[in-house]
Amino acid sequence: MHKSSILLPLAVVILLLTGCGEENENNSNDIVNDDPVTTEIFAMDTYMTLTAYGENAQTAVDDAVNYINDLDAMLSTGIETSEISLLNTNGEYSLSTDAATILESALEVTSLTNGAFNPTIYPIMTAWGFPTQEFRVPSDDELQNLLELTDVSAINFNEETGEVSFDTAGMAIDLGGIVKGYVAEKVAEIFTNDGVTSGIASLGGDVQTLGLKPDGSTWRVALQNPDADGDYLGILEVGEIAVVTSGDYERYFEEDGVTYHHIIDPSTGYPAMTGLHSVTVISEDGTLADGLSTALFVMGLDEANDFWRENNDLFDAIFLDDDGILYVTAGIADCFSSSYETVIIE
Ligand code: AMP
Ligand code: MG
Repeated sequence: MHKSSILLPLAVVILLLTGCGEENENNSNDIVNDDPVTTEIFAMDTYMTLTAYGENAQTAVDDAVNYINDLDAMLSTGIETSEISLLNTNGEYSLSTDAATILESALEVTSLTNGAFNPTIYPIMTAWGFPTQEFRVPSDDELQNLLELTDVSAINFNEETGEVSFDTAGMAIDLGGIVKGYVAEKVAEIFTNDGVTSGIASLGGDVQTLGLKPDGSTWRVALQNPDADGDYLGILEVGEIAVVTSGDYERYFEEDGVTYHHIIDPSTGYPAMTGLHSVTVISEDGTLADGLSTALFVMGLDEANDFWRENNDLFDAIFLDDDGILYVTAGIADCFSSSYETVIIE
């Protein structure tokens, strides 16, 4: 589908790997020689890998798997009995703590990104056939009508009680753009509560690290090359952080030679065509990172760079454009190495 020739290696960028996480030479404690416990599961429509180190690793991974499955059942739009499905069907529902917390974060990201992230996008996702994979291209008129259902101010939400209702019939929410970041953060919390100090969770494009590697060194997170299986765009060396990627290659269909992907521009109802191929957000806040990766994709490179300049205390980002060029924000540049052409955003 995509031209793989756009990603020819251009220049070897060798960067000093300093200041990337708190490397700790003295952290070679008793868990160094322990093999990690690693489990792979399929949940939330994606393959996930959970890895924990140390003597409680098995318990921690088991607890995290149970939690992920519970949240999937609670939040999936594809499960009729999920809280989100009940809210979408009835137009009102009293959400439990996790679901309410995610909705609260989603609405915060909506306001921070001026609506580039919009959790009321679900009727439009449905029109394109993404939830059922019965893909179709909706007419302009249909999309214009559906856009009226994407006004977040028509959501009544009591953050204390979790009660939600919609002012307009037919509104529906979709937390798919943010939920994995929240869950990945929670996995790190579960690991910690179970006594694990070192681990990594990879939930599709959402990576969350906990602590440092058992030997005290930083994690090496490879960014996948969307156009070549097994190849990667570069390596991030990080401490405890979230690294979340959104791209047009994750879910898409083709009709009459045109590719339609799953990240929708809420101002048009069409897949966002901004010249970006993928966006990776690096942040200490995993939920924010997930919401932002979706939103920055919608914004496109120039707007996303301006947004980063205004919010560079919250996150860093790596953009891959349709020409195969990588753009890396200055705050993370020293922690990223790549053999592809890389431009540093100041
Ligand atoms: P991600 O892979 O995190 O970028 O999330 C993509 C998913 O978020 C899609 O499959 C939709 O469920 C949802 N989505 C699509 N467009 C938007 C948007 N503009 N704002 C919020 N969620 C979106
Ligand atoms: Mg996202």
